[in-house]
Amino acid sequence: MKAVKVRVLVVEDEPQIRRFVCDAVRKEECAAIEAGTARQGLDAAAEGEIGLVILDLGLPDMDGIDFIRDLRTWSQVPILILSARTAEKDKVAALDAGADDYLSKPFGVGELLARMRALIRRHGQSGEARPQHSFGEVVVDLSRHVVSRSGVEIHLTQIEYRLLVAMLANEGKVMTHRQLMQDVWGPGHAEQGHYLRIYVGRLRQKLELNPAQPQHFLTETGVGYRFQT
Ligand code: CA
Repeated sequence: MKAVKVRVLVVEDEPQIRRFVCDAVRKEECAAIEAGTARQGLDAAAEGEIGLVILDLGLPDMDGIDFIRDLRTWSQVPILILSARTAEKDKVAALDAGADDYLSKPFGVGELLARMRALIRRHGQSGEARPQHSFGEVVVDLSRHVVSRSGVEIHLTQIEYRLLVAMLANEGKVMTHRQLMQDVWGPGHAEQGHYLRIYVGRLRQKLELNPAQPQHFLTETGVGYRFQT
């Protein structure tokens, strides 16, 4: 019996490099899925069953670092960076954002394939992807940043959206004020808990059936908040 082919998503805007990488991937008995923009890449990843993402950082429609952060809000698929950026700080930024390995251009095909095999071995057949969440009348599509309620799109500000993403990622768990403040506003903002109360209130207004008696965005008195579906 033949094993199921691992599907490798190649996100690279330069056609020649993309073709080169895809040919190499196919020689490795994997299926190559091509994307020339970040948007195409995120859409392909959201369709699921991707075992590895090979990502160029310099894309026309989005910086690769933002691509990684975005993808990491809903997928744990391994990410191998291919980049012309060789400075240490670029590598650190990519790895901190959630990439698993980094290969600088120009690279040899042997090394590319060896790193690819190592990542696939370590992470198994396919990374778990969960781009869609739903609760009550609300559907959140993390891959497209779209939130809708009873089929109508709801506009969230950037902070409201980040708070929602942080709470979805910790479904069922109590998140302390400090954790949430750090996730949403970044380190150094852990003391301004009143902002958090305001923004949780806004999410309830927009997404709860009865904001005064929330069913999803729950207060854990004296500790923080908990999200449940
Ligand atoms: Ca590029």
